[in-house]
Formats: sequence, C-alpha cells, structure tokens
Amino acid sequence: QASFVETLSQSPSLIAGLTQTPDPLMALTGSSGAAFCEKGEKVLLGQTPSSEQMIGLVSWLGNQFGPDNIYHTAELSQVYPPAADFDHGVSGLVAIAISQPQQIYVVWFRPEVLQTVNWAGNPEKAVKEVDENGGVSLSPRQSFDLWKQTVRQRSLPWKPCELEAALELRSSVVGLVLQRADELSALNSELARSNVELDSFAYIASHDLKEPLRGIHNYSSFLIEDYGDVLGEDGADKLNTLMRLTQRMEDLINSLLHYSRLGRADLVMAPVDLDDIVRGVVDMVKIGKSEAVQLEIVRSLPTIDCARTQVTELFTNLITNGIKYNDKPQKLVEVGYLSPAEALSQGNILPDNLLRASTSTEGEQAVSRVDSPIFYVRDNGIGIREKHIETVFRIFKRLHSPNRYGGGTGAGLTIAKKIVERHGGQLWVCSVYGEGSTFYFTLKATTDE
Ligand code: ADP
Repeated sequence: QASFVETLSQSPSLIAGLTQTPDPLMALTGSSGAAFCEKGEKVLLGQTPSSEQMIGLVSWLGNQFGPDNIYHTAELSQVYPPAADFDHGVSGLVAIAISQPQQIYVVWFRPEVLQTVNWAGNPEKAVKEVDENGGVSLSPRQSFDLWKQTVRQRSLPWKPCELEAALELRSSVVGLVLQRADELSALNSELARSNVELDSFAYIASHDLKEPLRGIHNYSSFLIEDYGDVLGEDGADKLNTLMRLTQRMEDLINSLLHYSRLGRADLVMAPVDLDDIVRGVVDMVKIGKSEAVQLEIVRSLPTIDCARTQVTELFTNLITNGIKYNDKPQKLVEVGYLSPAEALSQGNILPDNLLRASTSTEGEQAVSRVDSPIFYVRDNGIGIREKHIETVFRIFKRLHSPNRYGGGTGAGLTIAKKIVERHGGQLWVCSVYGEGSTFYFTLKATTDE
C-alpha cells in the first residue's frame, strides 16, 4: 500500500498513477480485475466486465455509495441482474468513490467461485411442523447430517482487511488530490501575479517608448520642411518612409497599450442587452461603407451579465474583420447565437475542451461543458487556412502585408480573446479557406469550473 501510494504521488495524473502498475492495485484487495472510472472515461485492468457492460454498471454504481464512499458485494447479480452475463464471470465487486459529484471511482472485481456451502441439516426442510389439528410446532432437527449445496454467481467474500485497504487507498488519494489542489492554487496566484506584472511592464514600456518615437517623427518632418530642397526627391522619399514607419510603430504601441490596459482595468459587470449593443455596432460600421455590405442579426440576442464597453469592442472587432477580410462582391456578416444543445447538434463546432463524455443508458455521448449561449459572427469572406487557425489570435500577427485588406496592427483578435477570457469564456474560429469564417465565443465559465 505504502509503495503504491508513493508511486501514485509521483505520477503526473491520478489516472496514470492508479493504472500504470495494475498488479499492486489489484493486490491491494486481492482482486483479479480493476477499473478506474472518471465521468465517461474508463481504464480497465485485468479481468473486468467489458467496456459496454461497464457503462450500465458505473451508472448503477453511482447510486449505491453511502456516506462512507465504499460499496461491496460478493453476489453482484443478486443486486444488479445484468451482472449474470458479465465477462470473466465477474461476480464480486468493491468500489470506492474518490469523488461522488465528479463520478471518480475505483472498482475491483472478483470472478465467480463455485462455492460449496455446508449446512448442518437440510436447509430446505421445514423446521416447523404442522400436526393433525393444524397446530404448528417447532420440531428439533431429526438429523444433523451435513448438507452440501453448490452456490453459483458468487465470488469469494471480501475480507474486512481488504475493504480497509480499499478505504485506505481512498484516503491517500483524497489526501494527494487536496495537496495537488493546494499546489495548483499557489501556482495560480503566482501566475495571476506575474500576469499583472506583465501587463504593467507592457504598459510602462509602451508608454515610455512613445516619447522618443514622437521625437523621431517630429524631427523627420522638420527635416523635410526645412531641408527638403537640399535632400532632393530621393532623400525626401526616404524621410517619408521613415515617418510612415514611425507612424506604424506608434499604432503598434497604441495597440499594446490598449491590450495591457484591458488586463489592468476592473470588469464592471452588469446586465447588458446584447441586441442593443450589436445594433449600435452594426449602425456604426455601416457608416462610410460604400460597398455592398449586408449585416444581419439572425436572432435577437439575449441580455446577459457582462462588461458593456468591452463586449461592444469585441463585437466591433469581429464584425469589422468580417467585412475587412472579405473579397466577395456581396459581403455578408451574420451575428447570432446558439444554445449548447443547438451547438452540439451542429456537429463539430464546439472545441474538445468544451465537451465531456457522458454515460447514460443509451451509451456514451458528448455533452457541452457550457450552459450559456454560444455567440457567433459569421462572414462569407476570404477564410483562414487550417494552419493559421491558432496564429491569428497572436498579438501583431497579420497574415497579409501591412496595407492589404485595409491594414491593421494585428491586435484586434488578441484583444477580442482577452475580453472573452476575462469574462471566463472562450473564443475560437471555424473556417473554410476561400468561403468564410465563423468566430464563436462564450462569455461565461464552463459549468464545472
Ligand atoms: P487586424 O487588427 O490587423 O485586423 P486581427 O487581430 O483582427 O488584426 O486579425 C489578425 C489576422 O487574422 C488578420 O490579419 C487576418 O489575416 C485574419 N483574420 C481576422 N479576421 C478574419 C476573418 N473574419 N476572415 C479571415 N481572416 C481573418
């Protein structure tokens, strides 16, 4: 037990630690099979029911645990009839719930043992006897002959020391999990602190860079004004390029400043009518667009708790990108939202980390880890190649030369992502190159965070 817990404490995850050395795990309770179950996931070791059979068993098992978090039986098919057909004749089971709400269980199995039970006297024979008048009297056993009976679908009984070993493993694992949680929370605060420092650094650095940059820009323009004749056309051209570059650098610094301010500002959360916000953004974006642009809100957006100014900026960034990165004669940008169930029914639009497997009587299926709306901004624009799907969110990353598609600093999506993440949500994109992109986002943390 001690050496098993020792290896467990050194493994990267609970599942790896428990399952990498199957023999000691099974030896703890003298079993011939074991399983580690975490929500829909299962790792089976040794002689266990099949994966299929485990689905129903695990969901049944979930209701058997009492406050002591252990359940055991040596006659599984008596309490759970489908066990009569289990692989390897599995008939006995001990299970511990490491966490009942998280559905994390360790289960051990034992096969059927044809047991011979010895009875002192025929157990079938009535011990009560009815006399001629209908009266009932207890009669002593006539014979103390040994009666033998073969019992099926039963495993060897679980000894108290084996049950104790299972419970001890549970407390060691719970102890380890709590210790990991402490370490994680310490790391989290460290990370939060270094994030704040990084934001302050970006703020100070970019703020201080602006001043010399202004100087370079001003001196270049003085040079052109005062010495334009001496410099000639070529010299003036070069200075103009220099001024353009300083302008670009100033744009980049401003984006960085804005980005770092986002991380430092407090979020002022309040109920916000998103329909109102998006209509405002659409009106503003339409101004000054001479080309054919169709902006549609396909479905009235809900009112949710969020930071109004930031979410306005988020929609503005995504909607303007939908028009900017678009070479179709009729540009189309659509804003809407999906409920988690609708998102699931639309195939692969939810990223893996927003899904989890759920086990029900119909088998395993993916369910959403978010219970809030999934908003989207869809366009029929140039699309994004698969290999660039992640890089577009990197700061200052543009996929085009500075002047193509209306220019930009490449910070828009990084800022959008930061806004979404500060709300606890997630931003991702699905795109078909040449046909268009859909940016999806949530504005709330997943249900289990
Ligand atoms: P910028 O401020 O330069 O527009 P963004 O961070 O908003 O930068 O976008 C980064 C890159 O992602 C853009 O250069 C573009 O190549 C790509 N991109 C962003 N939105 C879209 C879109 N709707 N369709 C296709 N490409 C896009």
